[in-house]
Amino acid sequence: MKKVVSPCFCKVYTRSGNEAAARAFCEIQFEDGRLSITGVIGPMPSGNCRGGAGQCVDAIRKGHPCDEWTQEMLDKFCSIWDEWHLNDMRPYCKHQKELGWNKLAVTPVTLYHYRLNSKTLRRQESMKKSSWKMLCDGMTAALNDNQIEVAKLPYSLTLPHEISGDAALYYEPQKPLYPGMAGATETKTLGWLHPEEHPDGILGKPCPVCGYKYGHSWLTEEVPQDVIDWLFNLPESPVEPAWV
Ligand SMILES: [Zn+2]
Ligand SMILES: [Zn+2]
Ligand SMILES: [Zn+2]
Repeated sequence: MKKVVSPCFCKVYTRSGNEAAARAFCEIQFEDGRLSITGVIGPMPSGNCRGGAGQCVDAIRKGHPCDEWTQEMLDKFCSIWDEWHLNDMRPYCKHQKELGWNKLAVTPVTLYHYRLNSKTLRRQESMKKSSWKMLCDGMTAALNDNQIEVAKLPYSLTLPHEISGDAALYYEPQKPLYPGMAGATETKTLGWLHPEEHPDGILGKPCPVCGYKYGHSWLTEEVPQDVIDWLFNLPESPVEPAWV
């Protein structure tokens, strides 16, 4: 099933910078249980458009409803678009959605990256040298508890909070070594973090009901029939768009 609707006019800017209104079109497709919605604002025969295209739901939401469309219909249409577009590419199972993991997934958190400070690196190095020398001299090299603790410290450390306590003596915030490398802090969303990387991370976390690991494949979430019925009862676009 496929249809084209024209829910609203959107504000666009002409080349000279003046405000104008352009008609928006959306194509709704429902094939083999998969819903897909794409939009275009002010499509032109040249193949260009005067506003956004594709997943331009946010621009369309701000438009002025036209023809038979009401604000309520426009709002409902845009929330269906947000919720159900590409329903066959869900990283979560239905139980995880019931538990709100889909909302959790987009929650941003800060990670703090640390490296051993130079003082600690020098201590590790000198312990290595003196132990090696003792072994070469036929002696037994033994480290005391504090030395063992320092010797075992990993070079880099990522924490879900700022460093504190003893660890703060050994580490300093990571400096980016090349453009694009993470610096001292980094923002990620919980859906992209394994629980080992962040205590609240859900990537790969098994569903308590069926055991499905979040984010490990794409699952299909069935679109409710009333949603499909509502979409395909919307008024057909009164004008033929140049393209959609
Ligand atoms: Zn990182
Ligand atoms: Zn994983
Ligand atoms: Zn499940």
